Amino acid sequence: MPTVFLVIPCYNEEEVLPETNRRLCEKMAALQQQGLADEKSRILYVDDGSRDHTWQLISDYHQKSSLVQGIKLAHNRGHQNALLAGLMTAMKECDCAISLDADLQDDVDAIDQFVQKYQEGCDVVYGVRNKRETDTFFKRTTAEGFYKVMKLLGADIVFNHADYRLMSRRALEGLSEYREVNLFLRGIVPLIGYRSDYVYYDRHERFAGESKYPLKKMLSFALEGITSFSVKPLKLISNLGILLSVLSVLGLIYALISYFTHNAVAGWTAIVSSIWLLGGIQLLCVGMVGTYVGKIYSEVKARPRYRIEEHLHDHKS
Ligand code: UDP
Ligand code: MG
Repeated sequence: MPTVFLVIPCYNEEEVLPETNRRLCEKMAALQQQGLADEKSRILYVDDGSRDHTWQLISDYHQKSSLVQGIKLAHNRGHQNALLAGLMTAMKECDCAISLDADLQDDVDAIDQFVQKYQEGCDVVYGVRNKRETDTFFKRTTAEGFYKVMKLLGADIVFNHADYRLMSRRALEGLSEYREVNLFLRGIVPLIGYRSDYVYYDRHERFAGESKYPLKKMLSFALEGITSFSVKPLKLISNLGILLSVLSVLGLIYALISYFTHNAVAGWTAIVSSIWLLGGIQLLCVGMVGTYVGKIYSEVKARPRYRIEEHLHDHKS
C-alpha cells in the first residue's frame, strides 16, 4: 500500500476550507479502508500567506485529526510556489503526492483512479477536465486559447490539464532538480518524463469563496508560461528582421529604378531606401542579440539534461 499525500495550496480560503477538509478527511479514510493508501497517508495544507483565518483553521484541523498536516508560508508566493513547497515537503514522507485546489473544483472522487494508475506503474498521472461548462465563456475561451498558443510555441503541455495531478516520489525528486525561479509546473512536469497517464474528471463550480485568479493574475500567469518555456518570440524578431532586410533590398532596387527613370522627387530615393535598409538591419541585429539572450536564458535555468529511468547493473554474485 502506498503512502499517499494530498497537497492543497490555500490562499484566503476560510470560506471553503471547512467543507474541503470534511470531504478530504472522508476521502482519506475511505482510501485507507479500500487499501489504496496506508496509515501514514496525510492531507497536507499549504497556507500561502493568507490574510484571513485559513491558518487558524488548518491548525485546528491538525489538532483534531491525525490525518491533517499543514505548512505556512511566510508570504503570499502564488499558487505555483505554494504547491511546490507542499510537494517538496510531502516528498520526504510519501510514495506519491496528489495536488488539488482548495475550492473543490477538482473532483475529489477521481483520487481513487489516480492511485490505481500509480499502482499500475505510472509515475505521473494528469487530471484532465472533461468539459468546462462550469467556467464562464470568457474563462473557457481564454484558457483553451492559451493551451493552443503554448503548443504552437513549442511547450509540451497537456491540454486542459491544470494542477490536479499525481506524482510519484521519484517524479517529485525529478521536479526538485528544476531550479528555476519562474515556476510553471504544467510545463515542467512533462519534461521530467517517466510513464504517465490521464484521468478524466468533471470540473465543478467553486464550492464557496471567490477565484483567487483575477484576469490580471491569469494574464501574467499565461505570459510566465510562454516566456519560461519558449524562446520562439525571440526567433520571431530575427525572422522579421531577415524578411525586412530582404524587402529593403527590393525597395532599394525600386527606388533606384524610379530615380533613373526620373519618376522620383529629388531626395526621395535616398530617404526611402535608407529607412528600409536601416529598419531591416536594426531588427536583424536586435534578433541576433535576442538569440544570444535566449541561449543565456536557457543556460541560466540550468535544467537537468537527462534523467535515468532504469539502470540494468551488474548482477550481484
Ligand atoms: N492559490 C494560492 N495562492 C495564490 C492564489 C491561489 O495558493 O496566490 C490557491 C487557491 O487557494 C486555490 C488554488 O490556488 O486552492 C486555485 O486558485 P483558484 O481556485 O482561485 O483559481 P481558479 O480555479 O479560479 O483558476
Ligand atoms: Mg478554483
